[in-house]
Amino acid sequence: MKNLVCLLIIYAFCISVRAQNNTENSISSTQNSQTSKPKLVVGIIVDQMRYDYLTRYYNKYVEGGFKRLINEGFNCKNNHFNYIPTKTGPGHASVFTGTTPKYHGIIGNDWYDMKTREDVNCVQDDSVKPLGTKSDDGKKSPRLMLSTTFADENRLFTQMRGKTIGISVKHRGAILPAGHTANAAYWFDYDHNGTGNWMSSTFYMEELPEWVKEFNKSGIAKSYFKIWDTLYDIETYTESGSDENNFERIFDGKKTSTFPYDLKALKSKNGGYEIIADSPYGNSLTTDFTLKAIDAEALGQDDITDVLTVSYSSTDKVGHDFGVNSKEIQDTYLRLDLELERLLNALDQKVGKGEYVVFLTSDHAAPNVPAFLKSNKIPAGLFDVSGMFDEMNRLLKEKYSISNLILSRLNNQLVLDREKIQDNNLDLQEVKTFVANKLLAYKLIDKVYITSAINQFEGPEGYLETFLANGHHQKRSGDILFVYTARVFKDSEWNKTGTDHGTGFNYDTHVPLLFFGKGIKHGETLQRTWITDIAPTISALLGISLPNAAIGNPLEFVLLHD
Ligand code: ZN
Ligand code: ZN
Ligand code: ZN
Repeated sequence: MKNLVCLLIIYAFCISVRAQNNTENSISSTQNSQTSKPKLVVGIIVDQMRYDYLTRYYNKYVEGGFKRLINEGFNCKNNHFNYIPTKTGPGHASVFTGTTPKYHGIIGNDWYDMKTREDVNCVQDDSVKPLGTKSDDGKKSPRLMLSTTFADENRLFTQMRGKTIGISVKHRGAILPAGHTANAAYWFDYDHNGTGNWMSSTFYMEELPEWVKEFNKSGIAKSYFKIWDTLYDIETYTESGSDENNFERIFDGKKTSTFPYDLKALKSKNGGYEIIADSPYGNSLTTDFTLKAIDAEALGQDDITDVLTVSYSSTDKVGHDFGVNSKEIQDTYLRLDLELERLLNALDQKVGKGEYVVFLTSDHAAPNVPAFLKSNKIPAGLFDVSGMFDEMNRLLKEKYSISNLILSRLNNQLVLDREKIQDNNLDLQEVKTFVANKLLAYKLIDKVYITSAINQFEGPEGYLETFLANGHHQKRSGDILFVYTARVFKDSEWNKTGTDHGTGFNYDTHVPLLFFGKGIKHGETLQRTWITDIAPTISALLGISLPNAAIGNPLEFVLLHD
């Protein structure tokens, strides 16, 4: 008995020593991981980048751009969006918040605001003033985004000592990724014959910093009013269709959709600086501005992690104009590859090789244009949304003797006038069902859901119904959702050529996801990953809280463990 007590005492002593060792181990490993954090996180979005742009043009890429990210980093080859609609605003918000429109509330680039009874832009904020321009495109902030980004969580974690800067030609591409606590977001004043300045809003600061003012005075933007010809001999661009065809936009003042494009000659008829945003030079200008920002803001210069978000928007604009099979889009990607090389080389030099981490993904992809697909016998089409909208209101008037019961058709959602429905004692559910049944009669509409059903749907990720539910915010989204058959676009002059996006089909959801740099393994996976996994992965890498509404999971297999 005495021996047993002795043994027990010795045993207890051993356990307590082990426990102590464990605590010491865990303290030292926390210390290790704290000192070994990346000095800078660079989140790159390539607007409208299909996954196959990595593989189709692979042999034409240089060693230091996309190939460097693939060959030294981790390639998630089967990465998808998990909600509808796959548009720019929701895309940028979802990558950085790790959640979907259902929670972050950015349900489209624009949506119908039921309170003001007007359309609202996803970054609209009339309470702030533009900086660097007088344009309304400067009245922008992230206030409509309902959750935090990982950059916000990094700011909170570092007691606001880690900086965040967001940069993009598009306002939403700059503002949403950087989040609510960003030191600054900067975007390019090209729209509505803009000034060609980089701008911001008083949401972030009282006045533009000197370095931005200097950049705006430098004439760098103006220098891109030049000839856009192919980077290499056009004959070598065998990965895309012929330069001249019926599926591409023809710029005003030009007779064909063919190289070369003289941007100086075209600017007056094509929106001034907008023609730069519409060419690969919008991406070059983004890199120019980004490199200045890294220097001027001393990003990645100390041990407190900073976050830089860069969104290359011109890929989307060239895609909308010329389509995914064009020589123009191929040239835009070959040139973007050089921009990435320039950015990575600068980061090596300014922050230090192996001291920063990069991820690259997109905000949505895009399909071939219906006219091109049809010419290749693949079913596709254009749907007259505004005709349908008028017809639905006409049918409702016929049935209920009330006009304009449907207020909006944005983002393939119909918004009903709840006030009228209540004032006239109509049964909301009955009106919804009536409209849904009429919608289903259209040949190009494949599925129709009423929101009460979609919000109750519980199923595994990957189903159309889950995508719709993930994209649906109860207070902002419409009452009836309709889904086209595959490869159908909204009919408009704009959509007869080029491309569009927004569906839950693979051609819109499948985008690259590359991780590279500090703390990242070399490898690849074909396992399906979701866009909402990116922010949790970066949070895990940094050891910080998940963005507050994140639903994704850290991709453990991309992270190095010590
Ligand atoms: Zn986009
Ligand atoms: Zn062309
Ligand atoms: Zn787009």
